[in-house]
Formats: sequence, C-alpha cells, structure tokens
Amino acid sequence: MKIERIETIPYSIPYSHPLRFASGEVHAAAHVLVRIHTDEGVTGIADTPPRPYTYGETQASIVSVLQDIFAPQVVGLDPLDREKVQRIMARTVNNPTAKGAVDIALWDIAGKAFGVPVHKLLGGYTDSMRVSHMLGFRPAPELLDEALRFRELYGITTFKLKTGRRPLSLDVEAARVLREGLGEEAEIYLDANRGWSANEALEVLRRTDGLGLSMLEEPCDAAEAMSRRRLVRLSPIPVVGDESVPTPGDVARELLSGGCNAICIKTARSGFTQAKEILGLCTGLGVDVTMGNQIDTQIGSLATVTFGAAHEATQRRAGELSNYLDMADDLIAEPLTIRNGAIRVREAPGVGADIDELKLARYRQDT
Ligand SMILES: [Mg+2]
Repeated sequence: MKIERIETIPYSIPYSHPLRFASGEVHAAAHVLVRIHTDEGVTGIADTPPRPYTYGETQASIVSVLQDIFAPQVVGLDPLDREKVQRIMARTVNNPTAKGAVDIALWDIAGKAFGVPVHKLLGGYTDSMRVSHMLGFRPAPELLDEALRFRELYGITTFKLKTGRRPLSLDVEAARVLREGLGEEAEIYLDANRGWSANEALEVLRRTDGLGLSMLEEPCDAAEAMSRRRLVRLSPIPVVGDESVPTPGDVARELLSGGCNAICIKTARSGFTQAKEILGLCTGLGVDVTMGNQIDTQIGSLATVTFGAAHEATQRRAGELSNYLDMADDLIAEPLTIRNGAIRVREAPGVGADIDELKLARYRQDT
C-alpha cells in the first residue's frame, strides 16, 4: 500500500454560541479536513483545527505546509511506516496540528487496512471516556445555568472554568458560584490560558482555597520561569501545562524545570504517535495527564476519545470532549452522543469518523 495524495479541504461551520477565553475567542470552526488517499482505496481522515493565537497556524498555512512541504516527501511511502513520516515532518519545526492530522489519518488507514478499531491498536484499555465540559467567559449565573443544564441533559459532572480575567474577583466569583450551585460532588478546575501572572495565579489560589478545585491549567506564560516555578511549588493542586507543552521535548523541559506538574495531551496537535510519547513520559515520571480539547469538531473529539479510552492513565480523568455541542453543524456522518456523562469509542475499523459528503459540499470554502 502506498500514499497516493493528501487532500486538504478548508471549511467553516459557525458556532451557535461563541466561546471566549483569555487567549482568544471562536465564532466559527474554520478548520481543514485532511484525507490521505492510498493506492488501495483506503482513506485516512483527520480534522485540523488551526489556533492562530496559540500556535500561529491558519487554514492557509495548514494547507500550504501539507501540500507544499509534507506531501512531496510522503507521497509514495507505505502509510504504515508512520515513524518514517514522523521523522520527515520533524525536520520542519512547529505546525503541530498539520502534523497531528497526518499522523491521525495514517493511524486511521492502519485500522481500516487491518480491519481493527484504532482504540484497540493503541491500547484497548476501555471503551468510553467521561466528559468534562468547558465553560467560557460569561457572567457567573449564566455559567452555573449552563453547568446545571449539561449535568441534567448529558450527565456531565466535571467542569473546566475558563479564567485568566482581571480583576481576579471575576473568576474567583465564578468558581464560588459554580461550587455553591453544583455541590461538593462536581469536579471543577481552572484554565487561565496564560491570562494571569504567576503571582496573580497564587492570589487566585489563596482566594479560592476551600472550594475544592482540582487543577489549575496554564496560569501564566511558562516563560515567566522563576515565578511560575514558585507557583508550582506552592500550589496545593496540580498545575497543568497545556500550550507550553505541545511536544515531548517541551513536556520534558517543563516537567524537569518545575514549570508544571501535570500535562494536558491534545491529539489535534500531537497526533496519536506523539501523544503516546508524551503519555509515556508522564506515566514514567508519575505525572497526571488530562485529555484536552483544541475546540475540536466531532471528528476531532472522536480522535480524543479513541486515544483517551485506549490507555489507563488518560481515561482516569474526564476528557474535554463537549465543545462540539456549541457548533451549529458538523461534517461527521454519524453524530457523537454523550450518555451518562460519557462518549463511547467506535467499533468500526479505523477511528470511525465517516464524512457526510453533502455537508462537506455545503461548508467547504475551496469551491
Ligand atoms: Mg488549556
């Protein structure tokens, strides 16, 4: 089997509710659908979410790096030779979601070629992941309404609160209102997307003491090295690295230097291959991981479930899998469902995301 071509289709689907957070806001899923075609008719699928304000990637840059840099080097290779493709892509720095999409599409091809679901190929630990729901910037009473509605509708009991606002009292108040409204059983954690300084984050930890928050994600820029290490030393809860740790090398540097003591894994930016390397580092060092969301579509969320359910350490905590509910539509042929607070893996060969061609025709931007 040989890779015949890489298809890159930019498309845009509006959000019914825009998501706002410290490093940006999202009104439409302006992504790139990647399909890797082989000479044996097997096609691998992955969704690519550019996050311009985080990684500097755009729809145009993703299409360009895939078509102009990677395709000429990987067309003709055996799609099962994933390590060869990894080494080729590693010559070019950055471009994490473009590389992640190629890798996920190759795993999809491997699963389809062997007739096996990819969650089994990756590890096969369990068949579902609990869902954590992300709450963006909104007034505290609206956040609580949303959390209560999601608990009622989907059985979700874990909530990530987007924070990083000034004055700090806005986020402290939101955390307090959520805890009082949701009760002691709910898991609540914070993600500041670098919105604070390390010392402001320490102040928030002091002022939310007693609320039972479980984690604090990317409180400040990791480059604020000295204060951030002090924060990690003094924090009573794990400090999670996210956008500071997109690669295994970044994970090693931040963990070893004390810049964080838990790691967010995102399949959209790591693919399955690098996500496995990151997971191995973390389990070897005894560090907690979370499965994060790069504001993924259902195709992207299914990739996260596929990886997260495959390993013991990644399914321990609820994964961030519900952002797609804010989208007006999706390209996936068979929609995901959240039941009893969890999403199941697919038992079809591959990752299991088939594309609705009529919807693709409606939302693609290149015709
Ligand atoms: Mg984050």
